[in-house]
Amino acid sequence: MDSKNPETLALHAGWRRDEATTSVAVPIYQTTSYQFNSTEHAANLFGLTELGNIYTRIMNPTTDVLEQRIAALEGGVAALAVSSGQAASAFAVQNITRAGDNFVASTDLYGGTWNLFANTMKDMGIECRFVDPEDPAAFARATDERTRCYYAETLPNPKLRVFPIKEVAKVGRDLGVPLIVDNTAAPVLCRPLDHGAAIVMHSTTKYIGGHGTSIGGMIVDGGNFDWEAHADRFPMLNQPDPSYHGAVWTEAVKPMGPIAYIIKARVTLLRDLGSAMSPFNAFQFIQGMETLPLRMRAHCENGTAVAEYLAGHDKVGKVIHPSQMDGEERRRADAVMSGGYGGLVGFEFKDGGKDAGQKFIDSLQMFYHVANIGDSRSLAIHPATTTHSQLTPEDQEQTGVTDGYVRLSVGIEHIDDIIADLDQALAVT
Ligand code: PLP
Repeated sequence: MDSKNPETLALHAGWRRDEATTSVAVPIYQTTSYQFNSTEHAANLFGLTELGNIYTRIMNPTTDVLEQRIAALEGGVAALAVSSGQAASAFAVQNITRAGDNFVASTDLYGGTWNLFANTMKDMGIECRFVDPEDPAAFARATDERTRCYYAETLPNPKLRVFPIKEVAKVGRDLGVPLIVDNTAAPVLCRPLDHGAAIVMHSTTKYIGGHGTSIGGMIVDGGNFDWEAHADRFPMLNQPDPSYHGAVWTEAVKPMGPIAYIIKARVTLLRDLGSAMSPFNAFQFIQGMETLPLRMRAHCENGTAVAEYLAGHDKVGKVIHPSQMDGEERRRADAVMSGGYGGLVGFEFKDGGKDAGQKFIDSLQMFYHVANIGDSRSLAIHPATTTHSQLTPEDQEQTGVTDGYVRLSVGIEHIDDIIADLDQALAVT
């Protein structure tokens, strides 16, 4: 597929027809195993001298189409599907990080990722150093010889301040540290690999699916980071891997392209930890993806219209959406996003704090009250009493969640109906 256009890639990348049946739709290959042609064929597959299907825990033909499609959309060389966005974040870091190593992450992260990095990874002996993305140089200051990667989100909620991808990727490339970007909130709108990131990950659960039926995750290898040039920093890719009969990943798969990182993730982490995406979920994501570029356009239009409406409402104080930002925040958004600023919108009540936030949520009629984002339907939540309720008031403040803060994931319904629902809920709050 030569096209670079997301509308075309979302429909065509990675698939033309089923060779056995000529089926145009991607079939659900609901199988655990694959018959080898011969013992030699089986040995080649296990020895990675030939790529092909062995066992669905590590690859599946339906999932393979989704992987190719998302890799094409992001401009990467290959991708790995896993069972959730959480598994994707964990694998993306663990693939190049051992006990005793560290990595540097933006403070503006999804709460689940924060927990994984601050607690579970710490228990594994991996230190996450959190730095404020306001200052890209902070990433350099937190780096030492045991730093294995940088990690950030393109459009992190609740603050919705777009991450300085170019600046931090440059800091990392100068020091030999790859930047991993969670692009869950901005597929199509931003391609982090074009701005210097080395790896992209997604919770496909959100916009990529759009239907809210399936949990999944994806890691995309940009193929643009020279792991061999920084062999001391990446022993896991440059030294013999005892778990795979001494394979040196940067050498073993060289004839297949710059895919050392993603192959290793597949044949060691996915093999050992087993967080595989089910073929049925991969099929669901393929269906969702067909309309992803169209939906993102609608999310952006509606998100901007909602932000404008809220900004003009007398009960509303601050409105949080890149379309309402100016100065450096707006410059950062415009530097890496095109086609709009996404469907996530936050706002704060001028008065009434927690009571106002809760009353408003309870009064919504069309918006769903759920702990999710990226669905085609409009969603809302009051973070202070739900997703961020375990945090201390100081930590809530630091993450940008005040008592009167409401998070909206604006869907693709008709804008008049979205605003009518917000309007009636604001009127009774
Ligand atoms: N990254 C972001 C930005 C998210 O919003 C989420 C979930 O809300 C995740 C990762 C985790 O994804 P999942 O719920 O698919 O595990």
